Amino acid sequence: MRRAGRVVREVLELVRSRVKPGATTLDLENAAAARLAELGVKAAFKGYHGFPCVLCTSVNSEVVHGIPSPKRVLKEGDIVSVDFGVVVDGYYGDAAITVPVGSIDPDAARLLAVTEASLQAGIAAVRPGATLGDVGAAVQGVVEAEGFSVVRDFVGHGIGVHMHEDPQVPNFGERGRGMKLRTGMVIAIEPMVNAGKADVKVLGDGWTAVAADGSMSAHFEHTVAVTATGARILTD
Ligand code: MG
Repeated sequence: MRRAGRVVREVLELVRSRVKPGATTLDLENAAAARLAELGVKAAFKGYHGFPCVLCTSVNSEVVHGIPSPKRVLKEGDIVSVDFGVVVDGYYGDAAITVPVGSIDPDAARLLAVTEASLQAGIAAVRPGATLGDVGAAVQGVVEAEGFSVVRDFVGHGIGVHMHEDPQVPNFGERGRGMKLRTGMVIAIEPMVNAGKADVKVLGDGWTAVAADGSMSAHFEHTVAVTATGARILTD
């Protein structure tokens, strides 16, 4: 799974380097697909329940599962969330980043910083004997202290020989509640955070989830193993 995670990170950093005003989300897709072809690695998302691309690219108020398009031109001040997974020798890796396009306004920058910090807080709560509620509460605490909202309709997940395995890993919860983590488990923690209210709706393409109030939304994700001493991030 570490090998899969390394490929995920390499490709996400490649995509990050291609984000600039004037690029389309299909440009990002094409860069990722070309690198995967060079590496001979299979994308996890393309074909998953019919998803058409290797990346999910979600711009501004899009929360998750946006479809790369030649019509979606990134402009200065946008934010774009990129979610990406691969499978290497039968094992999955899954991660997401949200990238500023050129210079962004301070509120958008704060949304990105807080969402990434909430992921790190969730990871810091991972250890044997901790519960999924501990992880969710850690994420939620960081987000809500800043006046932002945790999306409830999408959650993290176990990951291994399938991209999505049990258990579900909510980005909200109560300390001490839920399944206890054990050494050897691997989970994807992936807070999706809206600047406004938590509600989302899915567009007519059947995939793209957007903040119902039109507010900006950010997404960060790591695949994380539970070890005897705490979390080991597999997608850094
Ligand atoms: Mg995921």
